[in-house]
Amino acid sequence: MTMRYDVTVIGAGFAGSLLARLLALRGRAVLLVERDVHPRFSLGESSTPLAALSLERLSARYQQPDLRALAAHGRWRRELPGLRCGLKRGFTFYRHRPGEPFPTTQTHEARMLVSASPDAEVADCQWLRADVDTHMVQRARAAGADYRDRFEVVGVEPAGERLRLRGRYGGEDVEIDAGFLVDASGAGEVLARAFGVEHEASEPDFSSRLLYGHFEGVRPFAEVAAGDGATLPTGPYPDDWAAVHHLLDEGWMYALRFDDGLVSAGLLIDDAAVASGASAGGGDPELRWRAVLSRYPTLESAFAGARPLPPGIRATGRLQRRRRTAVGERWAMLPQTFAFFDPLFSTGLAWSLLGVERLATVLETGRPTSQSLREYDALLRAEADQQQALLAAAYAARLDFRVFRDVSFLYFACASFEELRQRLLDGADAVDTIRAIGRARFGRVARLSRRWRHELDRVVRSGAGPGSRDRGRRFR
Ligand SMILES: Cc1cc2nc3c(=O)[nH]c(=O)nc-3n(C[C@H](O)[C@H](O)[C@H](O)COP(=O)(O)OP(=O)(O)OC[C@H]3O[C@@H](n4cnc5c(N)ncnc54)[C@H](O)[C@@H]3O)c2cc1C
Repeated sequence: MTMRYDVTVIGAGFAGSLLARLLALRGRAVLLVERDVHPRFSLGESSTPLAALSLERLSARYQQPDLRALAAHGRWRRELPGLRCGLKRGFTFYRHRPGEPFPTTQTHEARMLVSASPDAEVADCQWLRADVDTHMVQRARAAGADYRDRFEVVGVEPAGERLRLRGRYGGEDVEIDAGFLVDASGAGEVLARAFGVEHEASEPDFSSRLLYGHFEGVRPFAEVAAGDGATLPTGPYPDDWAAVHHLLDEGWMYALRFDDGLVSAGLLIDDAAVASGASAGGGDPELRWRAVLSRYPTLESAFAGARPLPPGIRATGRLQRRRRTAVGERWAMLPQTFAFFDPLFSTGLAWSLLGVERLATVLETGRPTSQSLREYDALLRAEADQQQALLAAAYAARLDFRVFRDVSFLYFACASFEELRQRLLDGADAVDTIRAIGRARFGRVARLSRRWRHELDRVVRSGAGPGSRDRGRRFR
């Protein structure tokens, strides 16, 4: 069986489905293929103001009110009550030391709250990706995209002026005749494998892997810390209604609270820390999870009565990956298929949405020119450089909270500036050209982060391994 489409999107995560929907709305013949089946177990993720801006632009441009609803907690609760979400007022960071309860004195040296929105109505949201992704697939189908799940990609090759995608679907061999292919398969990296796109030579110089799950019965951390005697001055929002980050010697943990009480949590384990003796090595994910928490008494108390929901705690391999290019003849990758580093500053949803905006812009009217694909590629590579440098610096800096605070402020200052710039200055042309949609603005972040990283390496080399930071260590 051969099927013919203008555009075929591989991977029905929220980003692939959204792109398929937008192109179908513009009258393109679109096929969306997914190897899995929705709804499926997936992460909880926290959104940001830059992601909200993209959603609002897309909503206005394509007349899709649900996208505007996803951009703000109040609207989401009213207009999409069937999709579970959580209130996210900002980014909360706590620095823990092994064997010690969360500090009861000098809390400000171990706690940082970065406010992102002034109230719950306009606040960002925690996304339960299982729900959001299912919704996005339904909307893609409603817009006219053809959708095939349990689809196995077997091969891709050029076929004259088009591409041929071979697959297995419903027990049969199928061939897709595609005018253009978009790889939205994330870590699946389907086209990079099919076309032999190499890994970027300057691979990220840090390495983390993930233990994650959804839990019920997790107590709010601020409440537990206060019970242990910590004095937590009132912040701009309640500590737990945020993307909560616990910085640990082994790496860091995120805890995202949903409005129904579910907490999606993950431990990002730094391979360098494990190599130099911190806990969390191999073995059963649940035992590894407990081994890390057992070193941090206040965190352990917060999870003491918690129960992981099915399918339990899962583990991944190394997360960092980056390919040399994001485009080729008649194909392109979405950002998170091209590169992924670490979710420490929640940059993923916003970046994915920028990618959707850009590709929708060039694909909605026909085949993109090689010039527009080169431009897309250059933007993605510049943005990947920035994230890579920033995250490498933040990873090293997490061991000294004062340095970490400085590195983060640089990021938050740039993100806030970019948000303001887009809100105040971008005209209608922002959605008409690839370059105007989210400019690569963080050049200084990349440069400064690289310098900091260099200095951090020097400091770390001259001192002890993980476990003894913070006190007596000043970074200049
Ligand atoms: C631990 C972790 C936490 C994160 N937290 C945040 C956060 O808090 N905030 C944030 O902004 N970002 C976060 N991110 C980043 C975020 O996950 C990405 O930005 C987002 O997933 C991109 O969505 P996507 O639809 O592009 O890809 P994905 O969600 O990865 O979807 C890919 C889809 O492709 C399918 N697929 C894979 N291989 C194939 C194949 N061979 N054939 C067909 N289909 C295939 C998969 O089944 C899946 O449905 C996090 C990432 C990780 C790993």
